[in-house]
Amino acid sequence: MLDKIRVVLIGTSHPGNIGSAARAMKVMGLTNLVLVDPACEIDSHTIALAAGAADVVKNAKIVKTLDEAVADCGLVVGSSARSRTLEWPQLDPRENGIKVIAESEQHPVAILFGRERTGLTNEELQKCHCHVYIPANPEYSSLNLAMAVQTVTYEVRMAYLDATKHQSTAVVDEYPRADELERFYQHLEKVTSQTRFINKNHPGMVMVKLRRMFTRARPEQQELNILRGILSSVEKTIETLEKNNK
Ligand code: SAH
Repeated sequence: MLDKIRVVLIGTSHPGNIGSAARAMKVMGLTNLVLVDPACEIDSHTIALAAGAADVVKNAKIVKTLDEAVADCGLVVGSSARSRTLEWPQLDPRENGIKVIAESEQHPVAILFGRERTGLTNEELQKCHCHVYIPANPEYSSLNLAMAVQTVTYEVRMAYLDATKHQSTAVVDEYPRADELERFYQHLEKVTSQTRFINKNHPGMVMVKLRRMFTRARPEQQELNILRGILSSVEKTIETLEKNNK
């Protein structure tokens, strides 16, 4: 289960934080670290702070975009120190640990952590199925990056220990991977622009609201196939109408 869970650090700017995050992960039994477009190099500070977890740093995958980091994941969780303009499903670290462990039996799971100064962007947070918030002091709720990794992954470990104790056999539905969902949203945007439901020059918040709705509904693989089929049927009808009009 733990092998299917990856920690994704986005745009990290302090080399030491990467090392501390790796250590925080390894003590909780997690070893898959992905760095998205890091704003610093891995250096001697990284290795010093990683201590016995230097192997996690050395094996870390470095990618350019978030999409690459989570393409094969069935569940993507974003950790955030504050709630944003548009509310998204939110879990506390304990609920998150239980969900992550339950789903890791089925597919790869990613937990995202943002930049030291600015956190995750709204666009990044909107790519997540849900958000995890450590309910810290409301007057000062921003933890140091590696400490946030520690707190969130500790609860993942607690849930893991609990699950292996009880060996649950609950069946989990099959959900589409993140890249399939992205292709669906692109298809939906393309067709709704073609039918002029969305004005390409003034798209407004429609796609974000639709994303939120589908995130809430969380379509299963078969349901997503049906939605893609509906979009394709609309495209075919438009094509036929256009031919007949010529
Ligand atoms: N000033 C930034 C905080 C960045 S802290 C902001 O307001 O978003 C760096 C990262 O640590 C965050 O992007 C988040 O992933 C994690 N983090 C820090 N505090 C957190 C909290 N209370 N709950 C969940 N994640 C937190």
